[in-house]
Amino acid sequence: MKICGRCDQSIKDNEQYTTHDILSASAGGMTVYRHVRPCRRVQIPTSPSGPQPARRYR
Ligand SMILES: [Zn+2]
Repeated sequence: MKICGRCDQSIKDNEQYTTHDILSASAGGMTVYRHVRPCRRVQIPTSPSGPQPARRYR
């Protein structure tokens, strides 16, 4: 099974994808697949960083 490198979803056999060969000295090269159709990028949930009260240590 192939995983899309952009949306992190599995690529089905009936879906078109592109292949990107990434050469890395450490990994020795790997292949990244991506949907041909524009897919949504993985959304990283950002923790609410509101104004936090400064803690004071005595
Ligand atoms: Zn995708």
